[in-house]
Amino acid sequence: MSGRVLLVTGGSRGIGAAICRKAAAAGWRVMINYVADMAAATALATDIRNAGGIAGIVQGDAGTEAGIAGIFAAVDSDFGRLDGFVNNAGVVDYPARVEDFSWARLERMFAINAVGPIHAAGQAVRRMSTAHGGRGGVIVNMSSAAAQIGSPNQYVDYAASKGAIDTLTVGLAKEVATEGIWVNAVRPGIIDTDIHASGGLPNRASESADIVPMRRAGTAGEVADAVLYLLSDQASYITGAILNVSGGR
Ligand code: NAP
Repeated sequence: MSGRVLLVTGGSRGIGAAICRKAAAAGWRVMINYVADMAAATALATDIRNAGGIAGIVQGDAGTEAGIAGIFAAVDSDFGRLDGFVNNAGVVDYPARVEDFSWARLERMFAINAVGPIHAAGQAVRRMSTAHGGRGGVIVNMSSAAAQIGSPNQYVDYAASKGAIDTLTVGLAKEVATEGIWVNAVRPGIIDTDIHASGGLPNRASESADIVPMRRAGTAGEVADAVLYLLSDQASYITGAILNVSGGR
């Protein structure tokens, strides 16, 4: 992967950070996007550089058009090329039933988890597609097991936004299949990151073991390993695939 450039939205913490670390170790030059926690992004970039890798950071809200424009502009100016894109930024919200979802909640959820990722994938295609003069590349979208389970009484809106990611993956893969780009997704199950605390359930990972066939939550590193495979040349005949990384759930 030497010299190839990878952009990871929401790359500063959790699953995105694990992807950045492993991608840098595999030789990718990584651009780490974050929205609020500059300290986490800076510390991760420093770790990667201390380990001999190359990393940049860029602040930007991946749930807005202007934020996405700024993120990709930073990739253009700092690296001058893009070979891989991990559409990872995503949020949950507090558990609630569908009849209690506010309009504002739905707008935030879908802006960050669905509209933003579709628009960002388009920005990656503009840079990587051979139809636009690019070298080709690879996109990995971050779905969730929720897309298939539906997450009743918790966050059906989140599950629906991840359903959109699955459909994006299938449709975009076909759209750019002759343009040097392969597009896949992973569906993590319950992974031990800070996202659960942000939804008011700080112990969700440890307390959910009983509903996972493997009887444990997954780690960010285990999801990152699947993403690194899909980013690799070993996955060159795989497109439109969605890989469950969920301990059998
Ligand atoms: P996390 O630990 O909460 O980390 C979220 C990351 O996304 C942080 O780097 C955060 O940046 C960034 N982010 C949040 N909103 C953003 C925005 N609007 N624009 C740009 N960056 C933004 O989350 P995670 O658990 O690693 O989840 C990563 C992805 O995996 C999400 O798409 C999530 O839906 C999906 N997923 C997670 C699980 C799980 O159990 N953890 C399961 C299935 C799917 P700051 O540091 O600046 O806040």
